[in-house]
Amino acid sequence: MRWSEHQIAMLREMGVRVWGASPEEAAPAFAAMVEETVASAPLSTPSAPPSNAPASPVSTLDWPALREAVAACTACKLCESRRQTVFGVGHTQAHWMIVGEAPGEQEDRQGEPFVGKSGQLLDNMLRAVQLTRGDAAEPAHQVYIANTLKCRPPGNRNPLPDELAKCEAFLIRQVQLLQPKIILAMGAFAVQSLLRSTEPVGRLRGRVHHYQGVPLIVTYHPAYLLRNPVDKAKAWDDLCLAVETARPAA
Ligand code: URA
Repeated sequence: MRWSEHQIAMLREMGVRVWGASPEEAAPAFAAMVEETVASAPLSTPSAPPSNAPASPVSTLDWPALREAVAACTACKLCESRRQTVFGVGHTQAHWMIVGEAPGEQEDRQGEPFVGKSGQLLDNMLRAVQLTRGDAAEPAHQVYIANTLKCRPPGNRNPLPDELAKCEAFLIRQVQLLQPKIILAMGAFAVQSLLRSTEPVGRLRGRVHHYQGVPLIVTYHPAYLLRNPVDKAKAWDDLCLAVETARPAA
């Protein structure tokens, strides 16, 4: 694949220097790293509920019923301060699933994940690898975006363990219904929820994990990248690893 002018412009905006004409040339160690990571065993076990746990009623819902259940949820105190719930966005056939943290102010206003500054960066990164949350001809180019929490924590504070636990069934069901080919877990709370790991993102990125049997790539949260632009190049590597992992075997 040769980079188009458009992709190069996107990468520049992300602060990523494009060295060559192909991803392999752009990151010389990339191809070797992919082989190594795809071959490696999953680091963490999927966070499916233990088999003796009672099945959550959420686990039987279809997309419309799930959306309604989220909108009506009063399981934790966040329902008292939210303007509205933020369910998720994108095609339900999308091959890609992106999991973020929690709605911020703009998301709480608009009811859609990642519509603020972090969302602009995310959309630019996605566009650079021909992915979109909007209309795309092929499911392989479509992305579904959801958060670990469906309600905004007041003042954008971190999600609390109890909130993550109460909201988890919704995310599990979204993954089951979507059956994505690849999951991109962005930031510590997505990792905590999906991989049950409190290891720092920097230690978990760069290899392929699994969640419910789906390959999962860990990467930095866009809000972190806005504060630490020097790590955008690593996030780009993570995205390239995800592209490579999602690509059907020839
Ligand atoms: N950050 C997130 O993790 N999710 C959003 O929807 C917005 C900002």
